[in-house]
Amino acid sequence: MKFAVALLASAALALSFPSVLAAQPRGQVDTVDPSLPTQLPRTAVPNHYAITVTPNVAGLTFEGTVAIDLDVIKPTRELVLNAADLKFASATLRSAKGGAVLAGRARVNGDEQTATFTFPRAIATGTYRLTLAYSGKINTQANGLFALDYKNKEGKDARSLFTQFEAADARRFVPSWDEPDYKASFDLTVHVPTAVMAVSNMPAASSRPISGGLKEVRFQTTPTMSSYLLFFALGDFDRITKPAGGKEVGVVMSRGNGSKGQFALDAEAQILPYYNDYFGTPYPLPKLDNVAGPGQSQFFGAMENWGAIFTFEYAILNDPAITTEAGRQDIFVVEAHEMAHQWFGDLVTMAWWDDLWLNEGFASWMEEKATEHFHPDWGADIDRVGAREGAIGLDSLNSTHPIVQQVRTVEQANQAFDTIAYSKGESVIAMLEDFAGPDVWRDGIRRYIAAHAYQNSRTTDLWAAQESVGARGLSVIAKDFTTQPGVPLMSIGPVQCVNGSTLVSLTQSQFSADRRDPAAASPLLWHVPVKATTGGAVAKTVTAGRTTQLSVPGCGPLMLNPGQQGYYRTLYTPQQAAALAARLPQLAPVDQYGIISDSMSLSLAGYQPMQTGLDFLGAMPANGNAKVVQRILGRWDDLFERMDGDPAAQADIASRVVRAYGPRLLQLGFAPKQGEPAVDALLRPTLIGLLGKYRDPAVLAEASRLFAAWKTNPDAIPGSLKSTWLGVIARNADAATWDAIHERARATTGTVERASFYQLLGRAKDEALARRTLELALTDEPGKTISSGMITAVAAAHPRLAIDFVLAHLAQVNQLIDISGRSSFMQRLAASSRDSALIPVLQDFAQANLAESDRKPVQRAIDRIRSESAQAPRIRSETLAWLKLHP
Ligand SMILES: [Zn+2]
Repeated sequence: MKFAVALLASAALALSFPSVLAAQPRGQVDTVDPSLPTQLPRTAVPNHYAITVTPNVAGLTFEGTVAIDLDVIKPTRELVLNAADLKFASATLRSAKGGAVLAGRARVNGDEQTATFTFPRAIATGTYRLTLAYSGKINTQANGLFALDYKNKEGKDARSLFTQFEAADARRFVPSWDEPDYKASFDLTVHVPTAVMAVSNMPAASSRPISGGLKEVRFQTTPTMSSYLLFFALGDFDRITKPAGGKEVGVVMSRGNGSKGQFALDAEAQILPYYNDYFGTPYPLPKLDNVAGPGQSQFFGAMENWGAIFTFEYAILNDPAITTEAGRQDIFVVEAHEMAHQWFGDLVTMAWWDDLWLNEGFASWMEEKATEHFHPDWGADIDRVGAREGAIGLDSLNSTHPIVQQVRTVEQANQAFDTIAYSKGESVIAMLEDFAGPDVWRDGIRRYIAAHAYQNSRTTDLWAAQESVGARGLSVIAKDFTTQPGVPLMSIGPVQCVNGSTLVSLTQSQFSADRRDPAAASPLLWHVPVKATTGGAVAKTVTAGRTTQLSVPGCGPLMLNPGQQGYYRTLYTPQQAAALAARLPQLAPVDQYGIISDSMSLSLAGYQPMQTGLDFLGAMPANGNAKVVQRILGRWDDLFERMDGDPAAQADIASRVVRAYGPRLLQLGFAPKQGEPAVDALLRPTLIGLLGKYRDPAVLAEASRLFAAWKTNPDAIPGSLKSTWLGVIARNADAATWDAIHERARATTGTVERASFYQLLGRAKDEALARRTLELALTDEPGKTISSGMITAVAAAHPRLAIDFVLAHLAQVNQLIDISGRSSFMQRLAASSRDSALIPVLQDFAQANLAESDRKPVQRAIDRIRSESAQAPRIRSETLAWLKLHP
């Protein structure tokens, strides 16, 4: 699964099958590990599901039957399955050996999401077929079987159906053993209107007309897989295809959008052969589709259903009317992520949600690896450091958790999809690959995939595979970084130049943003693979204990973590920091960005004065690497926001940024240039957005000129910059401007473009307009999945206003968010706040609305606000002093 990404990201989904089946072990008794947590009694295991579903598209209900071939492993009178929002009409059980058919009585437990079928007598161990007739609901948010409404090519109301089952929503579609270790094969048959297209994991085996204007589509049998990977979609679709890696890749989207799917299709065709080679096991299914759906979710952007990835349109369709360069690049990255899951997650699946990071950390790492391979000019290495910084931001708070964590409830499984699983997972894997060496690491991955194909695995299985191919010592490092929370801190002692080498002593501690003293008093310790250089050869070691002596070839300014693959912070002495800052312009871009981030973060947390971090920030050349400059602008803006309430200081920062980076924008130009480097095309919208925010007259004048032209001609602004320029306008909007954007949102039929306009309405700085956006979000006008994004857009500039509004309309707002995303929605809304007055509001919300075990996301928001507001006075006064010293 791929995180929900902001729609307006620029500012911040028929070979012969039996031969495949015969080669794989089945989901048998011995593959279910009795030590795993489960909500289901270990009395039976499913081997095969034959499901038939008839959706009532208009009525938002469906009828289903399922015949489950299962083994009873302990004599029992009842069978317990997962089921949610399902009603049962009949249940029968028959032994594979024949004999009497037993009728079962159904009892549903809504809280536990189970259905228990009790039979008139005890069932002996053996093989049976359980047949159930049931009915269910079609949801309007992305849980289970759900509907997405849109305007079709002719401007008429249309509705498509899709499924979303991870983590625990297959049980809303089919009564099942809905836990990842209960792998089974699936036959899906659907009765659907003749005119529409039905898509599932496997190609259709047959399609024939049946009564009532329906057709029966029977899909081929899936391989053995976890229930959360099953998929079904139905709609007025186009499907475009290409041969790749011996299979067929395809993109499925609403009719008339075929050309917009081409970029994603080309990406799939590039990536599949690359992954076939990298993983050493060829992609096993006959086809791989990526199915696009209109709308969005607060929980996810794309989902790796085996053979049928689902992706919201904004993250897969390349729409010349609205897709930004960042959005276009994201299409490739999302494909690379979801396709990596076809092996890592789908072919080999974590045994339980405790190891979710194995899926997500790995796919996040692999997306950058594939991007670097095919698009070395996109700066994926810088993005990886960005992921590390995002992870450390959370991992340095008291409320963090280890990568491998205990998950016991459905809600905890949903919450496990967090920045620690994705970004810390990615960062730690990058560090381990660097330690093992890329060839050894790839061999380890190949062995791991081959050893666990069609089965489940645990984190330690991956380390064992790596050690077995030669990555000796890797398990110890991996264990420390996956079972302990937090971030190592390396403090560098005085250095000595002896015989042309630099001798240095490293002291290990723990970096904490909100409990510096307790962390220093009793820090966790890690085996950290450390690298150091003075500009020439690189010295390597693995720390063991508190202090480590290191001899680095050459004498000169010492730099730890060259290449930035290490997951730790480095604290230099003031003299070392000054020497390194002087060398910053000569360093590799990835190191420039890594060191500036490291130092700013240490300053903000109080490990060193703000001056040290700001000296690094100020040393970044404005004409430096475009991707680094883009990130550095974000750092400046963070500082700007931290000066909220001090207009003079904000004006100082704004004019400094305009002065330093305005010429870079002039050089790039206001409009896209044919054939320009991809990173320039990324930097332009960032500069326009930030300089527009800082009210640079040249940018504001161009924004006004373009807006005036756009009001009469929708093509007046280049599509790749439309949301950027309109973002500048929307931010400074008056009522008439807001009305004009609203009017265009109503008139637009392109689903991605239309959703973008609704979200733009949420950008207004004017509080009255922000209120109007919130009120509009609660109406039926924007569409069921668009409204929540409007609320988050408002929260960026008006967090308290948005949170108060949501609390006042909580029941209504909850209907606008998929179930899986509800408990973390409040954290999202609070993301831009540093107001300690919000803490009791968040505490009250959590207490009133969330089980104690489900409060982690809100607690993180509270921890962050608390630490940032505690540091604010010092940060403010030290920053003001630095600004004065550096006019
Ligand atoms: Zn994922």
